[in-house]
Amino acid sequence: MTFNDNANIGAGRVSKRGRNTGIAVGGGGVGVIVLFLVSQFLGVDLSGLAVGGTEPAESGSVSNLSECQTGAQANDDVECRVKGAAASLDVFWAEELPARGTEYQQPPVALFTDSVGTACGAATSATGPFYCPPDASIYIDTAFFGDLRTRFGSSGGPLAEMYVVAHEWGHHIQSLEGTLAASQDGQTGAGSNAVRVELQADCFAGAWAGAASDTRDAGGVPFLKPITDAQIQDALSAASAIGDDRIQSSMQGRVNPEAWTHGSSEQRQRWFQTGFTDGTGSCDTFAPADAEL
Ligand SMILES: [Zn+2]
Repeated sequence: MTFNDNANIGAGRVSKRGRNTGIAVGGGGVGVIVLFLVSQFLGVDLSGLAVGGTEPAESGSVSNLSECQTGAQANDDVECRVKGAAASLDVFWAEELPARGTEYQQPPVALFTDSVGTACGAATSATGPFYCPPDASIYIDTAFFGDLRTRFGSSGGPLAEMYVVAHEWGHHIQSLEGTLAASQDGQTGAGSNAVRVELQADCFAGAWAGAASDTRDAGGVPFLKPITDAQIQDALSAASAIGDDRIQSSMQGRVNPEAWTHGSSEQRQRWFQTGFTDGTGSCDTFAPADAEL
């Protein structure tokens, strides 16, 4: 995925948190809150994390990436690229969501290194990218993009990175539409609501990618050039690399569909592609029977 060099990405609201030193994970403080970190990109179970205090324990600096202003910078620099994706996702959903009957609100995006304090509690990079409903914010350690290649064996590439951002954006959309809570029913398995929520976020990411070269900045310049087949393959490779079955077989040596929370490699690729081809109207992952999901 390549930005048009002269696209204006200045509207993307992405902040960068400095390295945290004051995070206390595992209690030691002011009332332990229930962690409500849902639907992180990977199937990491966060329920064992208890967090001291409800205030983000920030101690680092915060920048708003004001140096990132153009598509050319987004092509060169991963942090500017996240900001460019945010600018594009805002424009896309500001049109799309009202057409689906819901008012759009822009989610803050925070880049962090190592650990971050959120309204959901403290999290580390091991969490993977995630969306925190209480502060309606997306959190990403961009080191994860490297993990996608080195740890999960995907082909990498900018569209794969932006798929991650757009997937987390999808959880924000679900939060606004009221469907995100379905993933909190405690069920797992191939047809569970948790999996349906994740596959819908993949479909929403695909829908944005499909419209990305028609999504324009305030001056009418499309943010992105038309996406190439090779770039689509990168996004599908990322979707495949983080399928529950793929991760289970590499970590546990076997596949157990009853424990799935995010969907199989095949499902994640297929729903991304469905959204890419047919738009958000095709993303009702709650309708199909289990066998058709
Ligand atoms: Zn997710």
